[in-house]
Amino acid sequence: MPYDYDIAIIGAGAAGYSAAIYAGRSGASAVIFDKGMGGGLTSEADEIENYPGFKKIKGPELMERMKEHASQYAKMHFLEEVKDLKVYDDGIDVISSKRIYKVGAVILCTGTEHRKLGVKGEEEFRGRGVSYCATCDGPFFVGKDVVVVGGGNTAISEAIYLKDIGCNVTVIHRRDELRAEKILEDEAKQKGVNFIWNSVVEEIFGDEMVKGVKIKNVKTGEIKEIKASGVFVSIGEEPNNELAKKVGAQLDEHGYVKVDRLQRTSVKRVYAAGDITGGVRQIVTACGEGATAALASLEVIGKRNPFR
Ligand code: NAP
Repeated sequence: MPYDYDIAIIGAGAAGYSAAIYAGRSGASAVIFDKGMGGGLTSEADEIENYPGFKKIKGPELMERMKEHASQYAKMHFLEEVKDLKVYDDGIDVISSKRIYKVGAVILCTGTEHRKLGVKGEEEFRGRGVSYCATCDGPFFVGKDVVVVGGGNTAISEAIYLKDIGCNVTVIHRRDELRAEKILEDEAKQKGVNFIWNSVVEEIFGDEMVKGVKIKNVKTGEIKEIKASGVFVSIGEEPNNELAKKVGAQLDEHGYVKVDRLQRTSVKRVYAAGDITGGVRQIVTACGEGATAALASLEVIGKRNPFR
């Protein structure tokens, strides 16, 4: 079957770029689709300190480097959303916002999106004080009071970033201990980030712009208002699994795509890599999974996996 491309990679984050490099270097023709301009969630990170070889690097810079590297090996189709996939015995139709492409294999690198609090005011004040990305929007709040909701690595990294740029930062967390790594917790405390424990946000209020949050202490039931100009919601991610669902790939109980050691999904010709597969969701693991998926997918396009 003549393919437009041997391998279509959907999602231009760390997993997708790595898959492209390994696909191209194995002699497969590869294309990356991204509904935006690529970079994935990593491009929202301020400092990255755990990607080997870089003691400290800005998220956007790391992703620019990966993009430039991957573009030597694959075609890049940005601002082109893949709407559907039709899997046949001899190939897959990739139906994008522009046209239909015939390919031999698909690697889903669709990642995750920010989880929402689901409280009054969240939608209404989005872009008017409510944000899901401190590095994108933090500079608007320099010198002001902001709250960060959440207790994971992202929340605490964002709190540190906001404090560093000159915001007065309070973290609101629903338990009395953080999920984040100890090293981040220590840094946040040492820099003077405030913490409110055992509390959930019940409402985000304001007029034209956000003015604050109403919080409830889950132990005592006490309700309080905290004044803030910015509310950074950082309570984890939800998998972007629409395409996986459309092809009928098996998902785990949290909606992440199930894969085997070669990143094969339950559907022949469909592979998955990066945050969409769950697990520890690190940049370095996404890269490894992308490479594995690309090499494994050679099996369905009649090419030899050079590492097996
Ligand atoms: P996460 O680890 O899932 O943490 C989410 C946080 O939000 C948890 O503290 C959770 O509370 C809280 N939360 C969840 N739903 C909530 C709700 N409805 N209301 C209030 N709080 C809620 O998510 P993440 O921080 O975005 O990290 C995602 C992945 O990326 C993780 O694997 C993380 O390690 C990784 N990451 C790594 C780094 C790094 O290595 N430096 C940096 C950023 C992210 P509980 O703790 O009570 O569950």
